[in-house]
Amino acid sequence: MSKNQVQFQKGYSLLDVFKNYGTEDQCAEALFKWRWPDGFRCPWCGSGSHSVLKTRKLYQCSDCHHQTSLISGTIFEQTKLPLTIWFLAIHLLTQAKTGLSALSLKRQIGVSYNTAWSMKQKIMQVMKERDDREPLSGTIQLDDVYWGGERRGGKRGRGSANKVPFVAAVSLNEKGHPIAMNMNVVKGFRLTEIARWARQHLSPGSRVISDGLPCFSAVLQAGCHHYSIVTGGGPQSVTKEEFTWVNTIIGNVKKAINGTYHAINPKHLPRYLAEFCYRYNRRFQLEDMLPRLAYVAVRTPPMPGRLLKLAEANG
Ligand SMILES: [Zn+2]
Repeated sequence: MSKNQVQFQKGYSLLDVFKNYGTEDQCAEALFKWRWPDGFRCPWCGSGSHSVLKTRKLYQCSDCHHQTSLISGTIFEQTKLPLTIWFLAIHLLTQAKTGLSALSLKRQIGVSYNTAWSMKQKIMQVMKERDDREPLSGTIQLDDVYWGGERRGGKRGRGSANKVPFVAAVSLNEKGHPIAMNMNVVKGFRLTEIARWARQHLSPGSRVISDGLPCFSAVLQAGCHHYSIVTGGGPQSVTKEEFTWVNTIIGNVKKAINGTYHAINPKHLPRYLAEFCYRYNRRFQLEDMLPRLAYVAVRTPPMPGRLLKLAEANG
């Protein structure tokens, strides 16, 4: 699909959102189907027989008497917001071309800044969990990046405390066009860490192209083939054809994140990277972004509160 085909695909309008998910009942019904496509299952014992406690909106298992709500055990757990607001937020965040800050989200859905910020973190967490389960395959360009520091030149591999190392990987089709990407924060560019990363994020048998950084040979431990190209690290190196796509995408993600957010606490960077990758990986599927994300959201456990306490000064 060309760039124009991405821009002019049918998509999903705000009117569609209001028509299909404009009331609490519509949202609850949709969420029920996504959470329990084959009918209710007790999350405690797996039984299907249950009764509904209508006044408190609870489902009670007839076998173990465990009570569960539609959102308990999911990323939405304990929310006091209407589902309609959540669905609208999911729509806006999945359709935004280069990202949507918590401040913009706050303005568009009419909640406080802190509420918008933590909703955004939760939705980004869903995006991350989804793509963390989808390893890349085929031909993959791989590169090492530092967030908050210069990437090329200088003392590579010795990032200071405010530089966050992450791996950027882009898979290509036979024509050399990018298909999907992932970007994951790592503890450092060491063999053991890259081996761990590769086992989770690359399919065995992939052909991985990287520069000469020694740790990247660890992809062999994940059953991948490895081709390393020595670039020399000078300004010329980034124009090498082998790295065109991964470098373009690294540039785009840095530009998008810097343009949308004021400052990002390194603790949250993995989710901002995941947000960018998630949308990129689904750029041909704008029409069903909302249901696809919501389907994963009801399978994503609640986020620990400690990750949601840093709302201030975190775009
Ligand atoms: Zn049960």
